[in-house]
Amino acid sequence: MAFESLTDKLQNVFKNLRGKGRLSEDDVKAALKEVKMALLEADVNFKVVKQFVSSVQERAVGEDVLNGLNPGQMVIKIVNEEMTALMGSETTELKLLPINEITVIMMCGLQGAGKTTTAAKIAGKLKMKGRKPLLAACDIYRPAAIDQLKINAEKQQVDFFSMGTDVSPVEIAKSAIDQAKKNGNNVVIVDTAGRLQIDEAMMKELCDIKEAIEVHQSLLVVDAMTGQDAVNVASQFNEKVGIDGIILSKMDGDSRGGAALSTKSVTGKPILYVGMGEKLSDLEQFYPDRMASRILG
Ligand code: GDP
Repeated sequence: MAFESLTDKLQNVFKNLRGKGRLSEDDVKAALKEVKMALLEADVNFKVVKQFVSSVQERAVGEDVLNGLNPGQMVIKIVNEEMTALMGSETTELKLLPINEITVIMMCGLQGAGKTTTAAKIAGKLKMKGRKPLLAACDIYRPAAIDQLKINAEKQQVDFFSMGTDVSPVEIAKSAIDQAKKNGNNVVIVDTAGRLQIDEAMMKELCDIKEAIEVHQSLLVVDAMTGQDAVNVASQFNEKVGIDGIILSKMDGDSRGGAALSTKSVTGKPILYVGMGEKLSDLEQFYPDRMASRILG
């Protein structure tokens, strides 16, 4: 993750603000115009940018800021606070049932987004927290996906469940829960099929699984490198299937930051984790405040 261009541009704006002893309303407006351009170039959603700039402006052109001791610094602080708020303010934890119950997590996303890898990454995190996860392979269309999940389960030393490719995903999901009961697993992570693009069949399959079993957390994995496409995908999944949280994968390769900055605001759903690499340990909790500080440099 290196939002160099965005960070450089914002730093430049801030340098100018700091350099001025006094600030007029016009100075602030001119600076915010540059912030707006920088965010748009970083592929942040247009509406989000507009709303963000107007929130900052509303707070920054007040008498108390402009007549304050260090107006430039105050404006920068407001930008930081509003950017943190944009990404959800608080860190959202993955919600789990008490340890003696089975929490069911359904992973969804487009093919190649990083769903299978992320399922195993989450299983590893939960295992470290003392849970006993079971990874269930419900992608019956790609045998390679089942193998990949199995290999990753072995690497993470967590339990794995598959019924091959001839049984429906709904049946596999139900059987996975039976298996978890027998085996003492308290988390079932259901890995579902992805397609290259959103289609009705994929959405229906996810809804069918949700109808047949009680899913406690539906997590969507989207590829941060796809910018606004990732945000659109998230909106559609949320509308059609309903999601509880988002994981932005491939943040290590994202040089712009548009998805991280827009997803929460557009979909209303929090980012729980960010994928920072291909290794199964490369999954980080998402902290809106730390991300804002990173972006602002
Ligand atoms: P799925 O089709 O959604 O299940 O996607 P996969 O889990 O198979 O991931 C697709 C590719 O993306 C694989 O090569 C993964 O190693 C890679 N990948 C997944 N997450 C990340 C990440 O956070 N960073 C990087 N650099 N690569 C990732």
